[in-house]
Amino acid sequence: MSGLLAGKTALVMGARNKWSIAWAIAQAYSAQGAKLALTYQGDREEKPVNELAESLGGALVMNCDVTDSAQVEAVFAQIRSEYGRLDAMVHAIAYAKREDLTGTFLDTSRDGFLLAMDVSVYSLVETAKHAAALMTDGGSIQTLTYLGGERVVPNYNVMGVAKAALQASVRYLAADLGPKNIRVNALSAGPIKTMAARGISDFDIMLHAVEERSPLRRNVTQQEVANASVFLASDLASAVTGETFHVDCGYHITAL
Ligand code: NAD
Repeated sequence: MSGLLAGKTALVMGARNKWSIAWAIAQAYSAQGAKLALTYQGDREEKPVNELAESLGGALVMNCDVTDSAQVEAVFAQIRSEYGRLDAMVHAIAYAKREDLTGTFLDTSRDGFLLAMDVSVYSLVETAKHAAALMTDGGSIQTLTYLGGERVVPNYNVMGVAKAALQASVRYLAADLGPKNIRVNALSAGPIKTMAARGISDFDIMLHAVEERSPLRRNVTQQEVANASVFLASDLASAVTGETFHVDCGYHITAL
């Protein structure tokens, strides 16, 4: 199928390099006809993300640290002035201190807890509010989550608690924005080797577990997550909202 997002404008937040899930989503949206805006965080990511955007034949590329409300506001002001409106937003952003992604959850510091919640959860709430103001003809808002928000996954710790809050936020936002025909969903991706994943201790054990025990007996790819994201952003998913949509080769249904 092609042209599923033709005529739509989308903001994808969180593409930092070619392994980023957000980058696979940006490529898939572009291939389906969407006009794109991308955000990256900080000077270090500027050059690689601009190079990636060029390979799409151009996109509006902006710096945005989501812990800074002024930067968030500036991003949406620029989208308003360049594109006028928005049909889809993908939030693929998370952060926790490395020391909070190892050992026991019990040892999480107040600082570490608040930081993970601010970057990984509150940022969805704030960006969704700005995005919704530009979604004058309905729209789709998506975020990325992981099974560690529903079950205990060793070392995922504070990020698991953040993902649980993120998934609850999706449901509350879906209820708030549904009357404007704006759908809000979470994509629960299986483990994928990315920069963010490298911060989690023993990440390879998560990959092996999925390979051995998931119904499909393999891991998921960024492209498969991106395909599911295209579906959720498209009119094919017009009745889907408030959902946590697992794209994990079925691993979430297994017990042992
Ligand atoms: P990634 O490292 O490529 O992306 C993480 C992004 O978060 C980066 O672009 C980074 O710049 C951004 N970020 C961190 N702090 C930020 C801040 N203060 N302001 C703005 N941006 C900030 O890794 P990824 O795996 O593609 O992660 C994308 C999303 O997918 C995350 O929410 C992650 O939790 C989720 N996810 C990842 C996996 C996996 O196994 N890789 C599985 C399920 C869900």
